[in-house]
Amino acid sequence: MTIRLRATLAALAGFGLGLGLLPARAQPADEIEAHLAAAKKAAAFDFAGTLVRTCVAPQTGPGGDVAPAPAPDPATYVTDPAKVFDNLYFVGTKIHSSWALTTSAGIILIDTLYEYASENAIVGGLTKLGLDPRQVKYVIVSHAHLDHVGGARLMQSKFDSHVVMGGPDWDAIEKSVNQYPNGKPKRDITATDGQKVTLGDTSVTIVPMPGHTPGTLSMLFEVKDNGKPLTVAYSGGTAFNFPNDVPHFDTYIASARKMGAAATAAKASVLMSNHSEFDNAVTKIKMMAARKPGEPHPFDIGAEAVSRYFKVTDECAQVARLKLLRKS
Ligand SMILES: [Zn+2]
Repeated sequence: MTIRLRATLAALAGFGLGLGLLPARAQPADEIEAHLAAAKKAAAFDFAGTLVRTCVAPQTGPGGDVAPAPAPDPATYVTDPAKVFDNLYFVGTKIHSSWALTTSAGIILIDTLYEYASENAIVGGLTKLGLDPRQVKYVIVSHAHLDHVGGARLMQSKFDSHVVMGGPDWDAIEKSVNQYPNGKPKRDITATDGQKVTLGDTSVTIVPMPGHTPGTLSMLFEVKDNGKPLTVAYSGGTAFNFPNDVPHFDTYIASARKMGAAATAAKASVLMSNHSEFDNAVTKIKMMAARKPGEPHPFDIGAEAVSRYFKVTDECAQVARLKLLRKS
């Protein structure tokens, strides 16, 4: 077999046939190249940040149970809150996102930033936008890393918001010795597969996506753009800062496929995340100012692009997994 033919077959395996998990044996290097090429193709111009974080310069292990780093200079992260859809508001930072979904019976808040940013960005941001933080009835935390769970305790203690999180991530909070020097959020609602978090006329459907953490939650929900309904696929966890072994990557890959399929089934045309590096939220919010009537919403990228997002993380996880197998 010529090298070129072998490469072509490997590329075909990566592009077309690589849907089932690969057998646990060492793989030739060109198969890794094929997955990398598939990841780049799926990322295109839409998801360069996600490609960088999962294929080009991936993290290779979890952080420790250590105290949070001191708060950085606010100039490095503070940005304006914004109305993004008729019923969805951004109350995040330049780096991390927090989203307020307004309903007929109050607000569902998704993710809560680092603790140091949460009061100013979330409580201050909602207030600046004319929304009442006391109306936050539910807080859904995608996963219990400090850059997303930081404001959960504040919302619970100050506004009696109910906090929804994956069971294993509640456990992780309980077990942590050092990460919550100012107090932990109290265990509240444990999310289940397919659960609908409903408030008034609006529901958020939970899609557990173990991988980034064991309790990571992705979500599907509807927003309206000048009255036009659009479905959002919200990706709850992305980077590879978990124990880097084959079983963890198998879990991660299965979750990427599960959420990709759920997003496709729901005809999701909007991809959102909790880091601007993955969904370009802050840039897109700036682009909204230049949007002319009739132009598509910058977040409305189409169902094909949404499914490519989950393909990027799937393919990059396969690259990392195959590298592990080659080492062993
Ligand atoms: Zn995380």
